[in-house]
Amino acid sequence: MSNLKAPVEPFRIKTVERIKMTGRRERENILQKAGYNVFNIPAEKVFIDLLTDSGTAAMSDNQWAGLMTGDESYAGAKNFFHLEATVKNIFCFKHVIPTHQGRAAERILFEGLVKKGDFVPNNIHFDTTRANVEVRGARAVDLVIDEAYDPDTIHPFKGNLDVDKLKKFIEKKGPKKIPLVMMTITNNSGGGQPVSVKNVKEVNQVCQQHKIPLFFDACRFAENAYFIKKREKGFEKKSVLEIAQEIFSYGQGATMSAKKDALVNIGGFITLDDDQLAEKLKSQLVLSEGFTTYGGLAGRDLEAIARGLEEVLEEDYLEYRINQVAYLGQLLDEAGVPILRPVGGHAVYLLADRFLPHIPRHQFPGWALTVALYREAGIRAVEIGGVMFAHKDEKTGQEIFPALELVRLAIPRRVYTSAHLEYVAEALANLYKNRERVRGLRIVRESQYLRHFTIRMEEL
Ligand SMILES: *Cc1c(COP(=O)(O)O)cnc(C)c1O
Repeated sequence: MSNLKAPVEPFRIKTVERIKMTGRRERENILQKAGYNVFNIPAEKVFIDLLTDSGTAAMSDNQWAGLMTGDESYAGAKNFFHLEATVKNIFCFKHVIPTHQGRAAERILFEGLVKKGDFVPNNIHFDTTRANVEVRGARAVDLVIDEAYDPDTIHPFKGNLDVDKLKKFIEKKGPKKIPLVMMTITNNSGGGQPVSVKNVKEVNQVCQQHKIPLFFDACRFAENAYFIKKREKGFEKKSVLEIAQEIFSYGQGATMSAKKDALVNIGGFITLDDDQLAEKLKSQLVLSEGFTTYGGLAGRDLEAIARGLEEVLEEDYLEYRINQVAYLGQLLDEAGVPILRPVGGHAVYLLADRFLPHIPRHQFPGWALTVALYREAGIRAVEIGGVMFAHKDEKTGQEIFPALELVRLAIPRRVYTSAHLEYVAEALANLYKNRERVRGLRIVRESQYLRHFTIRMEEL
């Protein structure tokens, strides 16, 4: 890792929101009441909240001003036309369909395309994408390059889809069973790792041969474009807007959660070329989300998204954003704290099984680390490991744990300063020094689906 300094924020602060440090005793009580599950902790009792980068961005003065220009007409609000023009300029597809967030975009797209028995390849499906494929009776298949699963392999585009795996998969299942291929940029579930233009081009060639449409899960397209500018030969001099336009030119459409790279707290959209499919999706949209020019959002929300999409492509912002996340990664690396490398676009991932080698997998080292981090420093992170992703073997009933036991420190956009991140790094460095004191956990109560949200635990 290069010797990065704390990046200078390309903004100054006009409004502040107080955050309050709790006492250690208070945090101990809160943990007990929360059943040792950080999802059950009131946000006001968290000092630095790194649970997610989704919907947690700080809007700019320009976006807040935009809210006041919200046109709340039922149909044809002027803010829709602003959003439509902005999305078309970046994504270059014919139709723009707003939705209330990313998963609604996924549901509506898949209702239009995916049938029972189908397969949908992706580099790695995000959880909601996978769930929306599988609820249709289809299978979500992850075809990312093998390097993605090794936390020590340095690769500039660790989010790439494996083209050979894709070719073989299409040969095996037949193109008729594959209604679309998706690429997630950046690859959230694989550590926020970028995908290269070269890879997108190659995937598109394979898709075209078999007449399969390629769609992007575009939540972090601007962060992905910035990585391309920095890492891919031939793109150094292009603007991130030009890079994004080129990426999207190799596909037929995209779904987007505006809660990420549109720098807003709620919203999403589908954008695509196919006229017939667009008609079908719009008739689905009116059933559940709303009329085609608002899709479950207020006019003011549409305006904030349009303005956010313009701001996210400002390159001084992206430089600061990517470097801020890398800076936290570097501070942790220097303190010897084990992290997944290279650092991705929106989060630093701790390797919890290496951090806490004395805690066996069935005592949930990742979960234990999230509990310890809150107890020590009032910081909230999220486990992406045995509690979230273990499944039971159908025959033996034994728990099978995922390959990686991670804790994600997601960085909200434009919210925390470098001093906040230094505080986080110091807390983790101290915790690492005293790691033998951290104890494993036992499950007291769990639900059948998505157990991490409601699980109750007890320390051993
Ligand atoms: C957040 C996210 C989604 C889902 O979007 P929501 O707005 O949370 O519904 C889909 N895909 C990826 C890659 C995401 O990060």
